[in-house]
Amino acid sequence: MKVPGSMKSSMRGNREWGGVESQRCVVCGPENPLHCDARTGADMETQTVSQNATPGSQGFDRSSLDSRIQAARAALEHCELCERRCGANRLAGEPTPCRLDSDTYCAKRYVSLAEELELVPALRVYWGGCNFRCEFCNTAPGGFEPRLGERVAADKFALELHAAVAAGVKTINLLGGEPSLHPHTILEVAAAAARPLPLVLSTNAYMTAEVLELFKGVVDMYSVDFKFGNDRCARHLAQVPCYMKVVTRNLAFLSEYAALRVCHLLLPGHLDCCFRPVVEWLSAWLPESRFHLLTSYVPAWRAESDREIGRLNRQGEVCAAVDYLESRRLDWSVDADGDR
Ligand code: SF4
Repeated sequence: MKVPGSMKSSMRGNREWGGVESQRCVVCGPENPLHCDARTGADMETQTVSQNATPGSQGFDRSSLDSRIQAARAALEHCELCERRCGANRLAGEPTPCRLDSDTYCAKRYVSLAEELELVPALRVYWGGCNFRCEFCNTAPGGFEPRLGERVAADKFALELHAAVAAGVKTINLLGGEPSLHPHTILEVAAAAARPLPLVLSTNAYMTAEVLELFKGVVDMYSVDFKFGNDRCARHLAQVPCYMKVVTRNLAFLSEYAALRVCHLLLPGHLDCCFRPVVEWLSAWLPESRFHLLTSYVPAWRAESDREIGRLNRQGEVCAAVDYLESRRLDWSVDADGDR
């Protein structure tokens, strides 16, 4: 499958990862050790998702879960489960950018009605550890902690999720941190469950295509937080390289085999650089996707003292965003602050 390439990006040292950082970009390929800084949008016009990717193919065969779990567990030894591809041995507890080892901890879980009608009541499950460091993260710093709460034991957790579904929960929404960094746990819980669980993954979509293959048929729906509209802002505000290329690749892939909802949090001062490019990309490539705009941004974590994003959105910014959406060919919605 061919998907659109993205913009020029950069990879420099970062200050958050405790000395762990990739030496070269594996997204751009081994032929370019200087990363995609040297490239332009033109020479990255298309990108193959995965040689083994088979979107929309055979459906879900539960007997494949054992081999998927084995693959996910084996991958922890030289972890390339997200596009940081740092290669850390999570089984041995080596330092990692996401701070995760092989265990999954559940920081909290509760039933929520604050979702789309078709998804509620939803059980929200928060797993710790994240591969992003968004300056404005509203779950920071707790969401970065890999060992908050209780350790997830697949059998026990599957029973609990089943009980929740039996009690009327319609969907199980996995959040973080970043839940896609726990593919082994997700698969083990799915395998331990007597029946398929209605799993929704709320994700930054920075996983590798191989992880998406592992999740195929196991995760019913993806709620993707399309945070930035260019690589410079992703690098500056979240310390993430190659953002556009990875996320657009994964969105194109997901659109072919899972239910998909795309969200974007309107950041103050980022109307032209982030909001508009996100909407433009979706309008051009995934016009059928559901898009939800969040305008009720509140500066959190490091953003509180940031000169640029340490404020609320102005009414003019929100109105401009909504006006822009009205001019596009998208199935969109906006939160209450967007006045619709
Ligand atoms: S999931 Fe964590 S350990 Fe694995 S590649 Fe990403 S940052 Fe590295």
